[in-house]
Amino acid sequence: MKLLIIGPQASGKGTQADLLAKRLGAPHLSSGDMLRAEKKSGSELGKEIAAMIDKGTLVPDEMIWAMIKKELDAHDAWILDGYPRREEQAEMQDKEHAPDKVIILEVSDEVCIQRISGRRICDTCGRDYHIKYKPPQKEGVCDVEGGKLVQRPDDNEEAVKKRLADYHAQTEPLLEHYADRLVWINGDQGIQEVWHEIEKKLGI
Ligand SMILES: [Zn+2]
Repeated sequence: MKLLIIGPQASGKGTQADLLAKRLGAPHLSSGDMLRAEKKSGSELGKEIAAMIDKGTLVPDEMIWAMIKKELDAHDAWILDGYPRREEQAEMQDKEHAPDKVIILEVSDEVCIQRISGRRICDTCGRDYHIKYKPPQKEGVCDVEGGKLVQRPDDNEEAVKKRLADYHAQTEPLLEHYADRLVWINGDQGIQEVWHEIEKKLGI
């Protein structure tokens, strides 16, 4: 099965993609991981893409697609995450590697904001916490070495709202594009509940 998985930050997309990969015996291909691997490999394509990102120029669709296509060509089944981002990219991909199904993890903005703005990290060891879902034993203090728990600057509510607005604007046209292949999943639930809904709706 060839699957795309779409969802906002903190939707649990990576976790569900890993569960799917295990169940289906297919690789979880994340565009972010691919980009890092391509840069690390030192290939011409990797160097070009890295240089553009460093300069802050937009990497042309053809280059991103060349990188993604290489991976998709190598596998009969896959779970792709993080790509495509725009309708033009989806159209380009459909010609050669059309996904069979597109999973959309629907998470309310309220839940996303709660999940992200409650995150804290230890400024000493980097361990992560959540004030509601994964609290430390003592408020504001790391369980391991007593480091101070801080919030990443871009995890504040205003920044999260901005990212969510961008996500919605970017995703709407994609959802229209994939209307005939969409599998809607309620991502407001816990990890296990989300997984059961995916299993059931895909019949896997
Ligand atoms: Zn710590």
